[in-house]
Parts: sequence; structure tokens; C-alpha cells
Amino acid sequence: MPILRETDEAFNQPPPLEDTDLFASDPSLAEAVAAFGGKVHAAELSEFGRLWGSRAMAERGRLANDNPPKLKAFDARGNRRDEVEFHPAYHELMAHSARAGLHCSTWTAAGEPAGDAAEVVRAAKFFMAAQVETGHLCPITMTRAAVGALAADPALRAQIMPVLGTRSYDPSFAPWWNKRGMTIGMGMTERQGGTDVRTNTTRAERDGEAYVITGQKWFMSAPMCDAFLVLAQAVGGLTCFVMSRFRPDGSVNAIHFQRLKDKVGNRSNASSEVVFERAHALRLGEEGRGIATIIRMVALTRQDCAIASAGLMRSGLAHALHHARLRIVFQKHLADQPMMESVLGDMALQVEASTALVLRLCHAFDRAPVDGGEAAYMRLLTPAVKYWICKSAPAFLFEAMECIGGNGYVEEGILARHYREAPVNAIWEGSGNVMCLDVLRALARDAEAAYGVLKQLAAQAEGLPGAAEAVAFIAGALRRPDAERGARFAVERLALLAAAAALNAVHSPHAALFAQTRLAQPHGTMYGAVDLDPDAMRGLLARALP
Ligand SMILES: Cc1cc2nc3c(=O)[nH]c(=O)nc-3n(C[C@H](O)[C@H](O)[C@H](O)COP(=O)(O)OP(=O)(O)OC[C@H]3O[C@@H](n4cnc5c(N)ncnc54)[C@H](O)[C@@H]3O)c2cc1C
Repeated sequence: MPILRETDEAFNQPPPLEDTDLFASDPSLAEAVAAFGGKVHAAELSEFGRLWGSRAMAERGRLANDNPPKLKAFDARGNRRDEVEFHPAYHELMAHSARAGLHCSTWTAAGEPAGDAAEVVRAAKFFMAAQVETGHLCPITMTRAAVGALAADPALRAQIMPVLGTRSYDPSFAPWWNKRGMTIGMGMTERQGGTDVRTNTTRAERDGEAYVITGQKWFMSAPMCDAFLVLAQAVGGLTCFVMSRFRPDGSVNAIHFQRLKDKVGNRSNASSEVVFERAHALRLGEEGRGIATIIRMVALTRQDCAIASAGLMRSGLAHALHHARLRIVFQKHLADQPMMESVLGDMALQVEASTALVLRLCHAFDRAPVDGGEAAYMRLLTPAVKYWICKSAPAFLFEAMECIGGNGYVEEGILARHYREAPVNAIWEGSGNVMCLDVLRALARDAEAAYGVLKQLAAQAEGLPGAAEAVAFIAGALRRPDAERGARFAVERLALLAAAAALNAVHSPHAALFAQTRLAQPHGTMYGAVDLDPDAMRGLLARALP
């Protein structure tokens, strides 16, 4: 019997997928970007794709997760320090994302929406970055999104934008007004209630022009941010505040981190439990309007959750396909085994649709300031897209892992990290049920606008198998007096319909196949548990990783 020696070369073990251009190797992404106005940015996106697809960036992602952040609550003499130390690889990832403008490129220097295809182009970059490392994207997404809420105080926004809007990453622990760049986090969730923030007990008292805040937050991620948007109870009710790490006099603010969460995934990112002891803060928006103010931030972080989850799925597909094309089992490449072909083809269809759908949503974000129809699309579809894409990702990544077999389950590959990362996008920024309730809320607030969106989707998906029936079902299900009970199914159908319409909008050859297998005919609970035409499947796979 042959004995395996250390010097024996491993055969039939595909090499890792690295040093690829994440943009050029993804025609579905390039076509969706072009269809939604970003065609002229193809060279810039390819440059980004080459950098983020490099072995060096993959290594940064690995190191940042293998060496999670450490809380330094006190110094050696027992003085409070409240700093978090990150591995250098984390800082390098942050610097690269900042240089590409992922934290600010959708805003003008004044903090207004940049328009054109700024959302679409940034989303394409965010989608690619998520394929490499998602933990550091938490402060990146929060910083970008905070600008939406800062609109409530144009004077404060005017002070912050010249620092926030630079492409520099400045990790120094100093007042933000003395820095080259800054990041902003968010503190809403308390022990007794995350979804129901009205139960927040953290108190805000007036202190001259400012406020002092006392209380706790059970989750506050990226604690080394330079400032946080925080909800607290003021005399007039739940109110939004900007709380900086330093007071105006330059002393360290009373923001005391208790511990960092020991999380399933998202390990490169720190998520703290924190106590405020009369911490200095400035009001953002009116007293009592805290939810209305911070929701402008949350709408943008929800959008990013969907983009990141679509990126994670894309990465899972690319790694699975790469492996299956090179690994030989029973004298044939795995990718040529009929059942594996069905699994991969079905997964490729899911990713193509998810990609088209998130970019369609980002197009609505680009157009919303000047187009009421697109604003209505954005309002109704953001929670539906977050719901469907973020909740699809964990099962998808498990399937991708299984395509790689035992190696998929081992930490050296990126699939294990993606798999552990995936659920958080569904949980934070409003969990699954909360997204479905938000669709119902949009409908209750402005039924005419919401049904206008459904009509628009019906027109864009016209003639696709099952589309007309889906429209009728969604309209009926959302109108029912007990709509909450069946909301998950209705919202899922809404997202599937929107995905089919988005595939049509990007002129994908697979819109009918997607509608056939997701809207018209029953689909099993597993990938590949559906009858796909073999030629269409091969076309899908050829496009998925040319
Ligand atoms: C890694 C990580 C980092 C985080 N970082 C931050 C941060 O930086 N800042 C911050 O403020 N928060 C943060 N959070 C908190 C996160 O946003 C909340 O955990 C999330 O919003 C859910 O709130 P909860 O944990 O209190 O759960 P709950 O509100 O108790 O919800 C539990 C479940 O009940 C469901 N549910 C709630 N209401 C209803 C209803 N009416 N009908 C049916 N179902 C319902 C929810 O969908 C959820 O599935 C973070 C969480 C994680 C995991």
C-alpha cells in the first residue's frame, strides 16, 4: 500500500482561486453596472477588481480574521483607556476601502446625494470587497450611511463632511476635527430591546447647547469610530444624537466599553457592549424624532447588507465552480457530472438574479431624489431585497461549501469564513420579520405608491412565466387584514418578482429561466432540486466564471 510522504505532491487538488479580476470575471456584474448607468466606470471597476481579487488582499482578509481585535479597557495603572487594537491587516483593508471611497463616494463634498450612477458604481465595489473581507465593511457602511441622517442638521454636516469626505483612513485616537479622515458608528440596540428601540432607557439631559447621555448599549460595533449616532430618551421623547469619542475641549468622552462580543463570524470587526456616563453629545434632529432621523441611516445600511450578502454568494459560487471545474471524481470533472451541473447551474441563476436585483435597487437610490417612482421602489423594495438576499445567503454558502467537499469545511479556505459571516446581514439592521413588517409599513403609509411599484414590476416582468400570477398573489396577500401572518411568503414573492424584472432590465438571457424555476414551477428546498434545461444551464455556468 503506498504511503503518503510529506514530499509527495498533492494531485487532483485544485489550486486556490486567487489573483483574479473580480470585475472582469463576472459578466453579470459588468452587465448590470452598464445597464444602470455605470458603463463609463468599467476601467475603474476592473482596477478595483484586480486589486481586491489579488492574493495580497485575500491574505489581509485572512489575517484580520485570524487576529481579532482586542479591547484595552484599562492601562497598566488602572486608568480607563477604552481603546480597541486591531491587526495591521485590518487597518490596511480600511485604508484600501477608504481610498476607493466606499465610505463616502455616494455623497457630494457637501453631503448631498452625488447622483448619476454613484450608488451603482460604489455598490459594485462594495460587492467585490465583500467577497474578500466583510468585517471591516461594518464601519465603512455605517460611515457612508450616517451622512444620510446628518441631513437633519446641515450645519453639523457642513463641519463633518470635510473630514468624512476625504479618501484618507486615519486610525489615530484623536478628536475627529483634528484628523485626516473619520468613521461613524451607531448605537441603538439596548439589552431590553433592539428591534423595539422605543424601550430604550438611555437618558439624555440638556447641558447648555449640548446634552449629556447616561445609559448603555448592548451592541455597538466598530467602537474605534470617531463618533456614533446614538438614540436616547430626552424630555421630548426618543432622540438621535451625535456622540464623539472626544469632548469639544479635547478630553476623552465618557464612553466606556465593557467587553467585546464573542461572535459566530464577523470576527475582524469589534462589536462592543458600552456604558455612557454623562457622555457629551449633540442633538441631531428634533427631540422625539429619533427614529425618523436615524432611519435615514438605517435605510442605507440595509441596502449594504443586501449588497454584501450578494457578494458573499458570488464568492461562494466562484470558488465552488473553480473547484468543480478542476477536481476529477469518477474519471470526470465534477463540473461535468450531471447532478453537480444542476446544483451549480441553479446556484449561478440565484447569483445572477441577486446581482441584478441589488444593482437595480442601487439604481433606485441613485434616481430617488429626482424620480418619485424610483423613490417608491427604493422604499418598498429595500426591506424586501434585504429580506430575500440576506436570508438566502447562509444556505447558499453551505451549498457552495459542500460543492468543495471536505476542503470547504476547513478554515484555510474562505468558504468557512463566508459561511460564518452570512447570517449577520439578516440579523442586524432589522431582522427578517422586521423587514417584512417594514414592507407592510411602506404599504400602509402610501398604498398608492406601493401599488404603483407593483404595477411597474408587472410591466417589467410581463410575459415571464408565473409573473402575472405572482403580481396577483402579492397584491392580494399584502391587502389581507391579517397580512402579517403570511408576510414572509408575500415578501419573498415580491423579491423574486423584482429579481425577474431586474434580470429583464439588464437584458439577461436568463430572466425567463429564473421566473420559470422561482415563480412558475415548484422548486425543492435545495439548490439543483429543479428541472433546468441542460443547454441553459451550460450557458449560465459559462457566464458565471468565464
Ligand atoms: C454582530 C452584531 C453587531 C451589531 N452591531 C450593532 C451596532 O453597531 N449598533 C446597534 O445599534 N445594534 C447593533 N447590533 C444589534 C442588532 O441590530 C440587533 O441584534 C437586531 O436589530 C435585533 O434586535 P435584538 O437583538 O434586540 O432582537 P429582538 O428585537 O428581540 O428580535 C428577536 C427576533 O424577533 C423578531 N421580531 C421582532 N419584532 C417582531 C414582531 N413584531 N413580529 C415578529 N417578529 C419580530 C426579529 O425579527 C428577530 O428575529 C448588532 C448585532 C450583531 C449580531
